[in-house]
Formats: sequence, structure tokens, C-alpha cells
Amino acid sequence: MPRPAAFSSAGDHPHHACPGSSVPYLEPSSEAIRLAHSAVAALEGFGVSPNPDHFAVWYEYLAGLRPDLVRAVEILRSNGRPIDDAVLDDLHRAFLTTARVEHTLRETGWRMGETLRHISEIVQTAEREVAGFGRTLETAAGTIPARGTDLAGLIRELLGEVGRMVASNEQVSTRLAESGNRVAALEKALEVARREATTDALTGLANRRHFDIRLHAAAGAAMNSGEPLSLLIVDIDHFKQFNDSWGHQTGDAVLRLVAATLHRTVRGGDCPARFGGEEFAVILPATVPEAAMAVGENIRHAFEKAELVAREGRRRIGGITVSVGGATYVPGEKLAGLVARADAALYQAKQGGRNRVRFG
Ligand code: GH3
Ligand code: MG
Ligand code: MG
Repeated sequence: MPRPAAFSSAGDHPHHACPGSSVPYLEPSSEAIRLAHSAVAALEGFGVSPNPDHFAVWYEYLAGLRPDLVRAVEILRSNGRPIDDAVLDDLHRAFLTTARVEHTLRETGWRMGETLRHISEIVQTAEREVAGFGRTLETAAGTIPARGTDLAGLIRELLGEVGRMVASNEQVSTRLAESGNRVAALEKALEVARREATTDALTGLANRRHFDIRLHAAAGAAMNSGEPLSLLIVDIDHFKQFNDSWGHQTGDAVLRLVAATLHRTVRGGDCPARFGGEEFAVILPATVPEAAMAVGENIRHAFEKAELVAREGRRRIGGITVSVGGATYVPGEKLAGLVARADAALYQAKQGGRNRVRFG
């Protein structure tokens, strides 16, 4: 990447400069310094560990450049949820790690383009060589009458030319095969990066970012078709207590179990996702509120009746319950509004004693 030779102050737009390489030429703006101070002060106020990830989350939130991060924080705060280490870690995982994966996706796509250009150059070279051989044949054909009986010499010349072409074709096909392998490896890397960008690593469900994309698509489809669209948010009850009693790893196993249960309980066209730490969401296309409530009840039931047994030692660790909040899309409304209504309904379910489904 070319470095700008110098960076003059007036008239230049820092955001048009190449990210990374031009950074050493820039003084942080007073706004950036102010945000950084505010972020550090906020972390101190929350009493969380002031590590770079937490700082990045809060800095980005204060900068307000990521609407989805801002919305997530607002939802957390309107729920009166304390901002602790786990919440900041989740926010970092959901919103800032994927930004890095996106970068990888762009990089890989770019490298793939380079390799494809390289292949097309090889093919063009091969075509030029074949055309050259054609010209040699034509010239040879023209000299046959003049050379009389020296056919042996002519054949030797042609054989020499054929030999050179075969050798060069072999080289071409080896190089093509190598490039083909590189393309296949890049395609695989791209596929892995794409999967990582859309999947939650712990549960294998769609992650928050992919959930947002799917919700937008579902809302667009609902507006086109006129069909109803519902949303459920499922939150594990007293999960902090569960973690405290049985340990974080058992907690993680429960999150995977919840993901598997959601996956099993909903229909193929529905989209279950990990919404946040111990919160899940299900997008239910073509589903009226009553049907969505019934799905919510099925989900709630699935946990209510299950008794959990830890794999190691086969010790019984009781059960968990979940609370569910739902809402149905009002065509044209902001999706943040739909999510906020489902979240408010979830809050009602919690207030009502947990282990219940409420619809907003
Ligand atoms: P409520 O019934 O009101 O939902 O109570 P709660 O304890 O479930 O809710 P709270 O928001 O207070 O705590 C959520 C807990 O979820 C705290 C956090 O440690 C835990 N958690 C979040 N993400 C993960 C994770 O990836 N793994 C584990 N094991 N726990 C997590
Ligand atoms: Mg909970
Ligand atoms: Mg929660």
C-alpha cells in the first residue's frame, strides 16, 4: 500500500486516507482525545477491567459510528443491566471481532481476484504460443516447393518447434494447476471467513450481526408479501446464579443446549440466533402473534421439563427455565422498535415471575 509522502493539515480528509499506513502521520483529533478520556472514565465508573477490548467497545459506542453497537448498549441500559466485564466481552465479540473478519473477507476476495488475473495471463501466453506455432507451420508450408527433397530438414525443424510447444504447454498446465490450487485454497479461506462472520462460535447459531441482516431481509419480505412477521427473544432465567453455582464451563454447555433446543423447536424457515450473552432471538416469518406465542410456549416447555445432568460425574444440576418476550412487526416500523417491543415484553415476563411468555 503506498504511503502518503506527507500529510498536510488543512484541506485533507483523514477518513479518505488509507487506513493503517497513514495513521502515523495523523495527530489524534481533540474529539478523539475527548472520547478516549470519556471511555476511560466510563470504564472506571463501571468498575470493569480497563483492557483494550473494553476500551474499544466503549470508545466505539461513544463515537456513535456503529448504530448496531449503540442500539445494543441502549437496550442493555434501558433494561437497567449493569455494564460488567461479561457484557463488554460480549459486545466486543458481537460487534468488533466481526469487523476484523470483514477485513479478512475483503483481503481474501482481493487476493482471489489477483490469482484469477494471473491465470488469465497464463492462458493468454499459451494462446500466443499456439498462434506462433500456427505461423511457423504456414511459413513451412510456403517453403515446401522451394526446398524440394529436403523434407527431412523441414520435419526436424517442425519437430523442434513441436517439442518447444509441448514443453511450454506442460509448463503452462503445471502453472495452471498451481494457480487452481491457490484459488481452491482461497475459496476455502473465504468460506471459513464467511461462516465465522455469520456464526456464533460457542453455539453455532447465527450471530448478532447475521441476525440483524436476516431481520432486515425478513422485514423486507414481509412488506412485499403482506405476511406477518414475529420475533421472539428468549432469555435464560437467573443464569448468573447458574454460572456462579456450576461454573462458567457448565454455563457454556447450557448455552449450547439452549441453542440446540431452539434449533430443534422452530421450523426450517425460522431463524434462531444468539442475540447476546445468554439471550437468544428467533425470527418467525409468516407467523401471527398467537402462533408466535405458541412457539414461545413450546420453547419454554422444552426447558421446564428437562433435567440437566453434567456429563462428568453425571451429577444432577437441576434445570433451567427461560423467559420469552415476543412482538409482531408493524410494516414500515423501524426494526429497532420491533426489537425494543420484544425486549419490553421479555422484561414483563421477568417481572411477572420468569418462566413465562409475554407478547408486546
Ligand atoms: P435474569 O433472570 O433476570 O435474566 O437473570 P440473569 O442472571 O440471567 O441475567 P443477568 O443479565 O444478570 O446475567 C446474565 C449472565 O449471563 C451473566 C453472564 O456471566 C452470563 N453469560 C453471558 N454470556 C455468557 C457466556 O458466553 N457463557 C456463560 N457461561 N455465561 C454467560
Ligand atoms: Mg437471563
Ligand atoms: Mg439477559
